[in-house]
Amino acid sequence: MDSRDLLDLSLPELASEITAWGEPSFRARQVWEWGWKRLATDFASMTNLSRGLRGRLARAFTIRLPTVAAGQGDEEGTDKVLLTLADGQAVEAVLLREDRRRTVCVSTQVGCPVGCSFCATGGMGYVRDLTAGEIAAQVLHFARVLQCAGEEVTHVVVMGMGEPLFNYDATLRTIRNLNDPQGFALGVRRITVSTVGVVPGILRLAEEGLQVNLAVSLHAPDEDLRRQLVPLGERWPLREVLSAADHYAERTGRRVSYEYVLLREVNDRWEHAHALARLLRGRLAHVNLIPFNPAPGLPYERPEDSRVDAFRRLLIGSGVDVTVRRSRGVRIQAGCGQLRTQQGGSPAASHEADRVV
Ligand code: SAH
Ligand code: SF4
Repeated sequence: MDSRDLLDLSLPELASEITAWGEPSFRARQVWEWGWKRLATDFASMTNLSRGLRGRLARAFTIRLPTVAAGQGDEEGTDKVLLTLADGQAVEAVLLREDRRRTVCVSTQVGCPVGCSFCATGGMGYVRDLTAGEIAAQVLHFARVLQCAGEEVTHVVVMGMGEPLFNYDATLRTIRNLNDPQGFALGVRRITVSTVGVVPGILRLAEEGLQVNLAVSLHAPDEDLRRQLVPLGERWPLREVLSAADHYAERTGRRVSYEYVLLREVNDRWEHAHALARLLRGRLAHVNLIPFNPAPGLPYERPEDSRVDAFRRLLIGSGVDVTVRRSRGVRIQAGCGQLRTQQGGSPAASHEADRVV
């Protein structure tokens, strides 16, 4: 428990540790490859390293594997797992299979401090941030599952439990580690970070020199309604969120996605669609409409399909690019916003997801 998690380190950090032991630096690359490419779960299996080095690595580090406390799958190829971390806390992660895409949705916090009124994770409150190693372990868990079928993780969406830009350093460290060409080698353009609108985080992300996809959770076309749904709207008004997102699009050349959870009779009427179109017209933007996924205790309903379609058509007619996120994993409470690890025992988590980018 005291030794450091190998997956928390960057390659340069690992190299400086190992060269300090008098080993040549290519040894660090070998270890890195074992951890991130060959998905090793222990040091003993790193057979191209000397027995002595393997022993020393095992004393200095661990490869911290979360335990699968519960797992559920559905007929569409969505798998959800509840992972127990070293301190007994738990998070959920989801694998979505769609055509040739294999998307892993990861959590960045246990719970979430934001408390959006339509989100099951928000209802849990905030417990703690995950470490970079704990975020990466969710991806590697499913990478190992897929490896058995000769498949690979093709996309990662940071859309599980928590607000990633409130756990900025660990999130970025994980993204850089996953992207490293000598290891997991996942292209940054295949990674999407979803934020509820943490303006300083968006501006910081714009300067990282990474072309990560940014998804901004908007949910309302006007300030008053947004504040009712997203308490953080008080801190960062819509105008500031949009201008930070514009800046992100300019700096990275990447189109920003706007997520809009459709709540029946709350934000799904034609006047909302009109106002949303006015807000986004002319922007390098794409709207993801997410029909509400119900979870116990949430006081909203999903609009009828006809309403969702009318909303979509109105946006398209106004020149706004839009997709409706097909609900995946909802039956197993793995849809967007359904992720939750109930304290005191009964897991009722979720994330949905599908073609998110
Ligand atoms: N905290 C970040 C990322 C996690 S939430 C954020 O809010 O963006 C990921 C997505 O799930 C967000 O777009 C969020 O609005 C959506 N979501 C939350 N609760 C939902 C629900 N009950 N039904 C559908 N989508 C939901
Ligand atoms: Fe947190 Fe995102 Fe859920 Fe809001 S929608 S409570 S920010 S996880």
